[in-house]
Amino acid sequence: MKAIIVGAGIGGLSAGIALRRTGWDVTIYERVTEVKPVGAAISVWSNGVKCLNYLGLGAEVAKLGGRMDNMAYIDGLDGTTMTRFSFAPLVAEVGQRPYPVSRAELQMMLMEAFGDTHLHLGRQVTEVAQDGDTVIATLEDGTTDTADLLIGADGARSVVRTHVLGAAPERRYAGYVNWNGLVPVSADLAPDDQWTVFVGEGKRVSLMPISDGRFYFFFDTPGEPGETVPREAFRDTLRAHFDGWAEPVQRLIAAIDPERTNRVEIHDIDPFHTWVKGRIALLGDSAHNTTPDIGQGGCLAMEDAVVLAIALQTNTLGVEDALGRYQARRSGRAADLVMRARKRCDVTHAADPQKTRDWYDELRREDGTKVMRGIISNIEGNPLG
Ligand code: FAD
Repeated sequence: MKAIIVGAGIGGLSAGIALRRTGWDVTIYERVTEVKPVGAAISVWSNGVKCLNYLGLGAEVAKLGGRMDNMAYIDGLDGTTMTRFSFAPLVAEVGQRPYPVSRAELQMMLMEAFGDTHLHLGRQVTEVAQDGDTVIATLEDGTTDTADLLIGADGARSVVRTHVLGAAPERRYAGYVNWNGLVPVSADLAPDDQWTVFVGEGKRVSLMPISDGRFYFFFDTPGEPGETVPREAFRDTLRAHFDGWAEPVQRLIAAIDPERTNRVEIHDIDPFHTWVKGRIALLGDSAHNTTPDIGQGGCLAMEDAVVLAIALQTNTLGVEDALGRYQARRSGRAADLVMRARKRCDVTHAADPQKTRDWYDELRREDGTKVMRGIISNIEGNPLG
């Protein structure tokens, strides 16, 4: 049986590896010649790591991961610690450490695991169709390829989704811009074994350790969609947003490399539950586009890949039946996490300023239990227990 996958991001590559492990002949078409992810790094929470373990990549991802033993929330303005706690109870409860990792390294790890024989870079799929039991992908040069199954892992602006839904859903601007990149670990920014989050004025600054002595940083700032900021103005723009904030935040702004800093306007899409049409299925951001506020978009894509492969392997009533089971198992969980992320986004970014002030007060009384309970509830419900 042959599968065509459109897109070689986290979702498409994970699906390719998972399907191949269960005996499928897999071909991936990727639009760009060099896959450059939108972010510098990503937190692979324990549910995502379990999927990578399942795909045989446990040792590799552990090598890429930073040691995130603790978490602290800091008042961004006066620099005082609001709460600090160990992640050990979280890891004990869910059975797996989370790993913040460089995106480029995660992408490379997945590409190496899939191999390059059936991975076609620089090939854009422009149209998909089904004729009887055969799916057909048309590429930008007019050539076609056929298979028994097609997976649209083509991201937030998916063309396969337009085929499955019959229309392109609207993306919703979440009200903020995320600036992210990598800087060398430095004790005057934050401890190197801790996820450190500075909050205040509905803004957020985060530092997460990844491998090889690097911090993954991001700043969240309010702003209108469609604004353009030249790279040479990145530092001054961040200085203006964080005027009067504590010393480590000023040092971080000084330490960033604007040439390697990504500026991303954050969007999501209202959840929808039709992920499958015949032998064509959506997976990853094409099926559920979330804000990154709970760090679960990529993890959900990996979960999709595992569930899809298991559904195709363990159900014997045909591809369409297995895809229906995949959709039934995944769309509710994904919708739940998209809406949780949206809720978290609104509190973090002061959609209602009083709620955000209440959250800051809560953080000052927090011993870690409630924050970890929230993260654990995102991880629970994953397909691997
Ligand atoms: P993508 O990564 O978008 O890949 C889709 C691929 O398809 C692309 O390579 C694209 O070039 C290709 N493609 C598109 N159209 C075509 C076509 N027509 N033909 C051929 N190829 C095509 N998630 C987490 O789990 N943890 C985090 O900490 C986290 N942080 C984030 C921070 C930010 C700022 C953002 C924006 C997102 C974050 N996410 C996080 C979400 C995560 O990045 C996405 O959910 C994940 O990358 C989705 O993977 P994907 O493979 O579905 O889509």
